[in-house]
Amino acid sequence: MIMSNVEEKPIYLDNHASTQVDPRVVAVILHTMTTGYGNPNSVDHVFGDMAAKMVVAAQCEVAKLIGGDPDGVHFTTGASEAIQLAIAHAVSNRPHRDIPLRVALSAVEHRAVLDAISLQEDNGNVVVTWLPVDNFARLDLEALKSACASGIDLVCVMAANNEVGTLYPIEQIAQIASSANASILIDATQAAGHIPIFAVDWGITYLTVSGHKMYGPKGIGALVTLPNISIRYSHGRLRSTGNGTPNVPGIVGLGEACRLRQMEMIQDEPRIAAQRNHLEALLLSTISGLEVNGDRSNRLSHNLHLSLPDVPNDAVLARLRNRLAISTGAACTSAVDTPSHVLNAMGLAEELQNGAFRIGLGKFTTDDEIERAAGYFVAAVEDTRRAIAAI
Ligand code: PLP
Repeated sequence: MIMSNVEEKPIYLDNHASTQVDPRVVAVILHTMTTGYGNPNSVDHVFGDMAAKMVVAAQCEVAKLIGGDPDGVHFTTGASEAIQLAIAHAVSNRPHRDIPLRVALSAVEHRAVLDAISLQEDNGNVVVTWLPVDNFARLDLEALKSACASGIDLVCVMAANNEVGTLYPIEQIAQIASSANASILIDATQAAGHIPIFAVDWGITYLTVSGHKMYGPKGIGALVTLPNISIRYSHGRLRSTGNGTPNVPGIVGLGEACRLRQMEMIQDEPRIAAQRNHLEALLLSTISGLEVNGDRSNRLSHNLHLSLPDVPNDAVLARLRNRLAISTGAACTSAVDTPSHVLNAMGLAEELQNGAFRIGLGKFTTDDEIERAAGYFVAAVEDTRRAIAAI
């Protein structure tokens, strides 16, 4: 039995799936809903003007966070839609209409990228060259170079992996892509607001962000393109026709979340990394056989990905359900209980995949929560091991 005070609020350490909305962002959204309710597409009065100004201000904040150009910021319903939009744009602007777009794709991309590419592949619009990763989920840059040398139109690589947290050298990857005249799509959904990004300086054609991964609201994200890229469809395009009414409160909330990350990332991230390292040390010193996955020398500061070879993760999570929110992997794949393509691409043994845990700290995680989370996790593992031994 795990002894604890069940009245305590469960601890949230699943910030890769979604983050708690910053109360300051909530305040700005509420303010927008009560004062900025005009339609930014309304050209005939000041309410429309006011809402339009809010959208433009949010475009500037998003652009500032990732070193983009405000005119290249296109608001979407989230990163998934931004990714679809980027890929659809690359497909319809491919060099030769009769020849499929040649895409180099890392094997550990998020499902949103894999699914969008696979749809285009099924329609004959895309051919894929897979880019392998090593045991730490690091990209094989030589494989990227040789793919580019043999002819690639679009390189798709994420900035940070959503399961094991490995960071990718996107500046270097963009250089390799651009020297081969390839466009580049960087899925920065997990990385934006956590690491510095300079999209225009690095020549990133398409970059995606999502509000709910950086203490902003759900249902809002952005595709950020280089200024020379013209995207026809976009919720955030002002005073255009046929695109529907922009989600102004969501857009303003995303803008505020970006503004706060810009100001606070530098202080927050080292503190969160120290908490993560402390949690990692506590667990490694107490639980025998525990392994850390991903690139420990180059990962998101809030990521801790672990594996236990002898304990199924679902048995441990069942014991933690009311106390500690962590996950077995990506939210979308864990919901359907399929093996992780990321851990598979990393070549993790099956028992390490079955015993995998993803822990995601956040800016609101306290030191006390880290101590309690370690205690809950250790107790749940010990309890599961006892139950297995008793069978
Ligand atoms: N890309 C990555 C790396 C993600 O982690 C996620 C969400 O988990 C997405 C894309 C999709 O983001 P959204 O939920 O905003 O559609």
